[in-house]
Parts: sequence; structure tokens; C-alpha cells
Amino acid sequence: MSETLELAKALIAKASVTPEDAGCMDLIVDYLHSLGFEPEFLDFGDTRNLWLRRGTARPLFVFLGHTDVVPPGDPAAWLFPPFEPHVHEGKLYGRGAADMKGAVAAFTVACRRFVENHPEHEGSIAILLTSDEEGIAVNGVVKVVEALQARDETIDWCLVGEPSSEERLGDVVKVGRRGSLNGRLRVFGIQGHVAYPHKARNPIHEFAPALSHLVNEVWDEGNEHFPPTTFQVSNIEAGTGAENVIPGHLDVMFNFRFSTESTAADLQHRVTGILDYYGLDYELDWRLSGNPFLTATDEIIGAVQKALKAVLGREAKLSTGGGTSDGRFIAPTGAQVLELGPVNATIHQVNEHVAVADLEALTGVYEKVLENLLRGG
Ligand SMILES: [Zn+2]
Repeated sequence: MSETLELAKALIAKASVTPEDAGCMDLIVDYLHSLGFEPEFLDFGDTRNLWLRRGTARPLFVFLGHTDVVPPGDPAAWLFPPFEPHVHEGKLYGRGAADMKGAVAAFTVACRRFVENHPEHEGSIAILLTSDEEGIAVNGVVKVVEALQARDETIDWCLVGEPSSEERLGDVVKVGRRGSLNGRLRVFGIQGHVAYPHKARNPIHEFAPALSHLVNEVWDEGNEHFPPTTFQVSNIEAGTGAENVIPGHLDVMFNFRFSTESTAADLQHRVTGILDYYGLDYELDWRLSGNPFLTATDEIIGAVQKALKAVLGREAKLSTGGGTSDGRFIAPTGAQVLELGPVNATIHQVNEHVAVADLEALTGVYEKVLENLLRGG
């Protein structure tokens, strides 16, 4: 059995639903400690974070990942129990196989192989793991980055093992992410009897034209690297449940995925402009979950493309699509951030799986990336 497969199975067997780590990080520490990787646990609140670094010199290359997984849902819907890893027809099944214990295993093994072959490599290598990527992530990588910055520990390159691949391993690499901005809106009306509407104000009716305006607004046109900014309502709720009552308020949750052509402040300003235009009485709370970022320099992109070419004989398409990842916390420090991981077809689903051959290939790609950037010795 390949080392990566073995380690991936050991990780999947630990039921680490967010924010639990369930001992996954200890496995990684055990695997690398004898090779000079020094562990430091940076725990905040209910979240475990591991900073495992070899060397003190720059440049510093970091593999970023998470040990938590989303809940498995109904275990009976799975082919195999979600926390009992099984290999079946060349695929490893289990919660986290693709997102992202497979990649964590692959970069851990890649670090070991690389260091065994190049003990005198240039710069430093670190692995950064958190147990809260899938949740609200307030005590995860964002806090570790603050701690590192406070002591002038600077990341130069960061490779995130999130499942970026779409059809085949390595077909897509993420070189940036859109920003994500959440709004919670409450529109106030006046509750009353539907038969006496002149004595009430219906917040659903008052909000309707503003909603139409928001949905039809062109926020920007995107650019060469990013698709246009999108606005989506995720929840809308009003009413008492009775047929004859005009509700007193309306609650809306919405989200922007935004390109580098807009800023969070612009979008906020434009939304309140629209709400004010329709004379609404409202409260609005914002939560910025990440600004957009883009890695446009060729250093790490070149190293990854070269590695993909060498191991898989293909070059990846560069993309900024998809959801956010913890890369959003690393990019603002000035690091070059890129995401490359397994095929994402089954992530967060029942019967999540990853091809066993891809685990081994991914290990080879990660090892080559290290060689391309840090070989030296
Ligand atoms: Zn993930």
C-alpha cells in the first residue's frame, strides 16, 4: 500500500467534524518530527491549529490544509461507513477523502520524501493545518497568520491542498479567489390585518421593487482573471404563518461573490443606495468573509505547471472560480498563494472519494513543486 494511501486512511478513520481535529494533527507531527519539522500548536477557542516548520531561512514555502470535515449526513446513505476508509474499485471512500485529508496525506508524504532526498534544501518548509476551515473559521488560519506576522515570520509561497481539480487531477489550479461579502437585512413594516391594509405597511411589498433592482443590477463586468461580481439571495423570510396578518418585518440574507473590479465598501455603498432610493426602513449588518485575491507572478505558478507537466504530462487551466478557502487569509500578507488538490466532484457529498492513483500522483506533484522551488542542496 502506498504511504500516502495509508496515511489518508488513518486520517479518515478519525471522525474530525468541524471544529474537531480528533488527533489528525498528532499523526502528521509523528510522521515528520524526526526529519526536523518542529511542531507548534496554536490553539484558539475550540480550534486546533498546527504550525510545523523545518528551517528558519527564507524563502518559506507552506502547505496549507485543514483536518476538519463536514458532517457525513445519514451514514446509511453511504456505501461504506463515512469514517471507516475503504478502497473499492481503485477509489478511496470516506468523509474527507477529497476535502481534504487525501491532500494532507499527499503533502505530508511529499515533505518527507523531499527532505530525505534534499536534506540541505534552500529556505524553509512548513505545514499549516487548522481544524476549522469548514466552519466559521474565526479561530483558524486567520489567527495563526496574525501570530506569525506579530513575530515577523513571513510566508513567501503557499500551496493550498483544496480540491481544485474538476475532471482530472491537475486540470485546474486556482490562482485566486473571488471575495465573499454577506449581508443580513431586516426591512421594517407595520403589522396589521390584511383586511385593513391602510393601517399597516407590508414590508414584503415595499421590498419587492428593491429586490428586483438588486437582482438586475450589473455590479461590474469582471476582468481577465475574474468573472463578473454576482449577487444572490440565500434566505428570505416574512410572515406569521397566519393567512390574514400583514407581517411586521422581512428578513433577507444575501451574498456577493466579487471580483477585483469591486470592493466590499463599494458594494455596501451601492446596496444602501438602492434600499434608500425605495425609501425602506431597514437594518443591515455586513460580514466580509474575504477579499478577492490574485497570484499573478509566475514563480509559484511556473513551479506548479512544471511539476504537473513532469508527473502528469499536462498543464492546468488557471482559475479564480469556486468558493473561498483559507488562502484568503494568507494572500493579504503578500505571499504567492495557489490551490492544487484532488478532483472535487464528490466533496461534501455522500460517498466522497478520491482515486487511489491520484493520491500517489498528487504526492509526486507536490514533491516536484518543492524541488522546483527549494532544491538548492
Ligand atoms: Zn476543504
